[in-house]
Amino acid sequence: MKVTVVYDNEVRSVGLREGHGFSALIEDEGVSPLLFDTGADGPILLHNMKELNIDPRDINAIVISHAHDDHTGGLSGILSINEVGELYLPSSFRRAFPRRKITEVKGPVQIRENIFSTGELEGVEQSLALKTAKGVFVLTGCAHPGLGRILAAAAKFGELYGIAGGFHGFHDFKLFKGLSLIYPCHCTRYKQEIRDLFRDRSLECGVGSVIEL
Ligand SMILES: [Zn+2]
Ligand SMILES: [Zn+2]
Repeated sequence: MKVTVVYDNEVRSVGLREGHGFSALIEDEGVSPLLFDTGADGPILLHNMKELNIDPRDINAIVISHAHDDHTGGLSGILSINEVGELYLPSSFRRAFPRRKITEVKGPVQIRENIFSTGELEGVEQSLALKTAKGVFVLTGCAHPGLGRILAAAAKFGELYGIAGGFHGFHDFKLFKGLSLIYPCHCTRYKQEIRDLFRDRSLECGVGSVIEL
């Protein structure tokens, strides 16, 4: 499985554009690509996809973590180009999308063979649990329900291996002890502290980061 960060507050290579928000593409053998969140701005998202050789028309499912603009703002841009993607929306994100298959997420749900939603936690946000040979990799939007809750929900799908996404103000760093790979992205307030504490397993996140799982 492969996760590519396509929208983030920082960029990792020339030609890509940063913006406040988060979006990542998930690719797996034999499965059509899935997009997790869409950033704040359609043109930035589509620009980065083009630069990263990602065809938005191929995306088969779009998962929205929560209703904030920095995760939903690019959605209309993607949907104007992509005709096939079905939507997995947390029940707190109430929007109608005519002619789209929509799954309203409340409890945990399987999205693709090895891709699961934790379910909408605390009534605000869902995260993804990716089942890989190395263990479960967690993808978060802003982590508003709190990373402790998110990690506990993701651990129901198997032993945790790593995490990427926005961690917001999370600072209970002992919860990261069992993880082998940590990408603090987007809104993570304590990026530097995480890098300092977990030097051997935390990596800088930004548009263009590719996580091979
Ligand atoms: Zn955010
Ligand atoms: Zn948010």
